[in-house]
Amino acid sequence: MPKQSIAIIGGGASALMLAAHLDENKFDVTIYERNAALGRKFLVAGDGGLNITHSEPLQKIIQRYKPADFLKKIITEFSNNDLISWLKAIGIDTFIGTSGRVFPEKNSKPIEVLNAIVEVLKKKNVQIKTQYLWKGWTENNELQFETNSGVEAISADKIVFALGGKSWSVTGSDGSWINYFEKKGIQVIPFQSSNCAVKIDWKKDFLKIAEGQSLKNISIKCGDKELKGEVVITKFGLEGGAVYALTSTIRKLLSENAETTICVDFKPIFSHQEVLEKLNQPKRNSLSNHLETKIGLSKTATAILKFYLSKEEFTNMNTLVKAIKSLPIKVVGLAPIDEAISTVGGISLNEINTDFELKKLPQHFCIGEMLDWDAPTGGYLLQANFSMGYCLAKHLNKQL
Ligand SMILES: Cc1cc2nc3c(=O)[nH]c(=O)nc-3n(C[C@H](O)[C@H](O)[C@H](O)COP(=O)(O)OP(=O)(O)OC[C@H]3O[C@@H](n4cnc5c(N)ncnc54)[C@H](O)[C@@H]3O)c2cc1C
Repeated sequence: MPKQSIAIIGGGASALMLAAHLDENKFDVTIYERNAALGRKFLVAGDGGLNITHSEPLQKIIQRYKPADFLKKIITEFSNNDLISWLKAIGIDTFIGTSGRVFPEKNSKPIEVLNAIVEVLKKKNVQIKTQYLWKGWTENNELQFETNSGVEAISADKIVFALGGKSWSVTGSDGSWINYFEKKGIQVIPFQSSNCAVKIDWKKDFLKIAEGQSLKNISIKCGDKELKGEVVITKFGLEGGAVYALTSTIRKLLSENAETTICVDFKPIFSHQEVLEKLNQPKRNSLSNHLETKIGLSKTATAILKFYLSKEEFTNMNTLVKAIKSLPIKVVGLAPIDEAISTVGGISLNEINTDFELKKLPQHFCIGEMLDWDAPTGGYLLQANFSMGYCLAKHLNKQL
């Protein structure tokens, strides 16, 4: 049987995993990437430590995704353990950090992980064409690319789009492809920030003492969701794991009202009663020192409380304890899309079938962050993108 050609457009995490698992005896595979090199966002993701997946049990991982039912089959088919085993097979050992997040071994830099994957592609004779910017379709329905040597029209038996989301556009994932799909009558949901900082109009002078300070071991509640973690105080507002994971709830509430409220619990390890009892013990020095010695409240937390409470409230044990356990802070917005770690929006999930094929364009598939799904940070994003690449490869290999 003659081989079929597959054009993969975009050279990020999902595309690499797809190409690494396509059967080279059945397909001639070419990746078309706009940048001069593959995987720029993958490398950016690795800047602060490449959190490649999470070690949680599968059932728990699946619940992290929105919509969970879309990703359930995909993550089950290529799970965190499958990813870890595959990386090991290509020479990348991983370890589980204290938070349960999984990283490549300390001596493997993100570029080494990327190179190990690209090595697999080379062995499979995957063609890699860089500086190929996809610009939609020609009148004859061929793929149209802008290249260094001019415009090129390309056709293939199967076409896979793996164009990424819209944040960190400097990596090449800028969502500029939306119009091409809309012109084909395919529904595209506008992109919005996910896993991003929240905007807070800090009280005057607060930043002079608190900018750049972190609040550790706190919990933040928004709507019916509460998360433990750490945040950093910035000019813009708050950033860090504890707010990133609340983005979807905050985004929803902000769409209904111009502002919403998050409640910070500065001492989630103690109940309200425990904090009250500890602070009601005899006070030997200033109230700020008392807070530090009796319940271990940080100087930054004390500074926030002083700013947010009146003098009477700060010195009254009942109002002070109430605020330590639940200080309401107004959120007035989310970080701009370009600064977010990921985006929601993109191709509507209603437009694809369970094998990622566009219902209106047979033999055209979409995978990765360009589809409209969401997940918190913690390795869940890369896991889902890798799993989608794997599942599509498995489906296409089976088809021929
Ligand atoms: C700062 C930061 C930190 C992150 N940290 C983590 C982390 O620790 N763990 C985690 O799980 N996830 C993390 N992520 C998210 C993760 O990197 C992405 O979810 C993932 O890379 C998306 O994979 P993808 O294949 O869908 O798209 P991408 O990796 O974005 O790849 C899409 C590719 O398509 C190319 N492209 C776009 N348009 C065109 C076009 N018209 N023509 C040709 N090529 C095109 C782009 O240049 C790009 O190379 C992080 C993201 C950021 C920004």
